[in-house]
Amino acid sequence: MADTYDLIVLGSGPGGYVAAIRAAQLGLKVAIVERELLGGICLNWGCIPTKALLRTSEIYHYMTHAEAYGLSNEKPGFDLAKVVKRSRGVAGQLNAGVKGLMKKNKITVVEGLGTIAAKGKLIVDKDGKKTELAAKDIIIATGARARDLPFAKADGERIWTYRHAMTPKEMPTKLLVIGSGAIGVEFASFYSDMGAEVTIVEMLDRIVPVEDHEVSEFLTKQLTKQGMKVITKAGVQSLVNTGKGVKAEIKLADGKIETNEYSHAIVAVGIVPNTENIGLEALGVKTTKGHIDTDGQCRTSVPGLWAIGDVTAPPWLAHKASHEGIIAAEAIAGKHPHAMDVRNIPGCTYSRPQIASVGLTEAKAKEAGYEVKVGKFPFIGNGKAIALGEAEGFVKTVFDAKTGELLGAHMIGAEVTELIEGYTVAKQLETTEAELIETVFPHPTLSEMMHESVLSAYGRALHF
Ligand SMILES: Cc1cc2nc3c(=O)[nH]c(=O)nc-3n(C[C@H](O)[C@H](O)[C@H](O)COP(=O)(O)OP(=O)(O)OC[C@H]3O[C@@H](n4cnc5c(N)ncnc54)[C@H](O)[C@@H]3O)c2cc1C
Repeated sequence: MADTYDLIVLGSGPGGYVAAIRAAQLGLKVAIVERELLGGICLNWGCIPTKALLRTSEIYHYMTHAEAYGLSNEKPGFDLAKVVKRSRGVAGQLNAGVKGLMKKNKITVVEGLGTIAAKGKLIVDKDGKKTELAAKDIIIATGARARDLPFAKADGERIWTYRHAMTPKEMPTKLLVIGSGAIGVEFASFYSDMGAEVTIVEMLDRIVPVEDHEVSEFLTKQLTKQGMKVITKAGVQSLVNTGKGVKAEIKLADGKIETNEYSHAIVAVGIVPNTENIGLEALGVKTTKGHIDTDGQCRTSVPGLWAIGDVTAPPWLAHKASHEGIIAAEAIAGKHPHAMDVRNIPGCTYSRPQIASVGLTEAKAKEAGYEVKVGKFPFIGNGKAIALGEAEGFVKTVFDAKTGELLGAHMIGAEVTELIEGYTVAKQLETTEAELIETVFPHPTLSEMMHESVLSAYGRALHF
């Protein structure tokens, strides 16, 4: 006999576990199935442990630049094993936290590999022991994994995925980072600040290609100034573990092939959704490029089957997964949640300098037919930034020139990942320049630059 629930959630990342909590809050009897660790990639192998590592490299950077603050700090050093142990400890603490949340919300946790056997029926395999679960509704929240290069599988020795890069046994001396999305750039920053010589290779014409052009340009300048080499319009064609390092052939923009030796390489060329072997093909669930198609309430093409998070369309971010979890749980419970507006999902990259953005870039706004008003304010015009010793960066805002609607905001510089939510709330409330101009910002804060950027779009910047 199958154990019967109102809802089964397959996968316990930030999408799945949040969906389970919201459904339990709404009175549903919920089971969640996980093959590895509660909390998914985000808590265990993604967002959180990388931020723990980046905190270490940030502090180390300040230690090695202590003199600029009037401090003396002779011969700063680090113990890599302890750095990794701290990061794993932080991940472990959050994993335990999710376990506690499942218990508190009376959600049944079923360990093992789940497969959807038929509509409303799921089989969980734990070391050969099979458990059958049944529910009217199933949410697929199986996430994604790192994409390998077709010609070079990550070996964990010299060629790393993010999992290896997060748990290094040795410090790379000369590191090749392939791919310049958020994950690639964050690892580049971490290892560069810890002392490695870093090269970033990107196929497209600029790094962090989803961001505003000016952000990409500024980041390139900053990383180059920090000593990194940034190669764009270039493709790694072969990658060979030589035992002592990695030999890479890189096809440059002019067609020439450059061969270089590195101590290690990190492959950060995107993700592959976990949609295989979970029963989707037999049920006829529709996908696009492997990612499950869903409507605004996270319904798949098969009634009773829902999908959220990285297994669905982009952006592939933890907060997008969680928000979809809430939408799906509420729709299943018979409520009428609003569909998510992807234009209001912020994105953050925790490199040095940090990047944060929401909404349309200037180029995308123009492509969409808007006549735009653009504001820009540099960190050098902000007292708090100068006091922090972080006077490099800018805040850019894009408005619809006709209506004054805030279309997008793009920031690069210290702590911008903590600032972006101000603009996200503004966008969610469909704010125009008028409300933002009238808003009072506390002094001295970095947030004043958000005000100044809006003022600048209307020719009224005060401090620049
Ligand atoms: C290095 C790195 C850094 C990142 N940093 C950030 C960041 O700073 N901010 C941000 O927003 N996002 C970040 N991300 C992305 C973020 O981790 C993902 O967007 C998020 O985890 C997606 O959540 P999810 O619930 O869809 O899936 P996941 O977190 O991938 O969870 C899916 C879960 O399903 C389980 N599962 C899969 N198949 C089965 C099965 N058949 N049976 C049972 N269980 C199964 C998996 O084991 C996994 O635990 C980062 C990712 C990486 C790799």
